[in-house]
Amino acid sequence: MNRAISWASPLLVLIASLALANTAQAQTTSGGAVSPGGGTTTTPPPTTPAPGGPTQVFPIPSAHTFGDGFGAGRGHQGVDIFAPCGTLTVAVMNARVIYSGFQGAAGNYVVLRNKKVKRDYVYMHLQTPSPLLKGQKVVKGQFVGGVGDTGRATGCHLHFEIWRGKWYRGGNALDPMPSLLAWDSYS
Ligand SMILES: [Zn+2]
Repeated sequence: MNRAISWASPLLVLIASLALANTAQAQTTSGGAVSPGGGTTTTPPPTTPAPGGPTQVFPIPSAHTFGDGFGAGRGHQGVDIFAPCGTLTVAVMNARVIYSGFQGAAGNYVVLRNKKVKRDYVYMHLQTPSPLLKGQKVVKGQFVGGVGDTGRATGCHLHFEIWRGKWYRGGNALDPMPSLLAWDSYS
């Protein structure tokens, strides 16, 4: 018995490993033949913008809904974008941080400025103070803060403003909705 097993085993192992090798080879061959760039290669979606990507992106890169628009009620200076508290908000474009702090009505807020396009971008009611510091450069898509309800806010939302010129320093608030809708369509 023992002799028979000890004799048979190496042979069985050899046969088994040969069979496995053949199978593996067959799979590799068929796999290579079936999917030359198939499964893993992805075709860019039709909405992908020009090479280099868009210069601006939507301030919340996840699910959101719109609330009060520009001019709503008592001269609303921006657009309210609702998302759960803690949802990330990001820089809409490359810019510099002009203000980052807390104010009674605005709550935790951040103002970004792009000198080239002469626009200020304002984020209010952030959940916690933004890690961004005044004077700091930010790049498009960089984290600004979490959606919150600090300051005068009902429900977790981002109050977002765009100003032509300097925020409360000679500039004037624009309706951000056209830009928001454009950014929302691809980002
Ligand atoms: Zn608002």
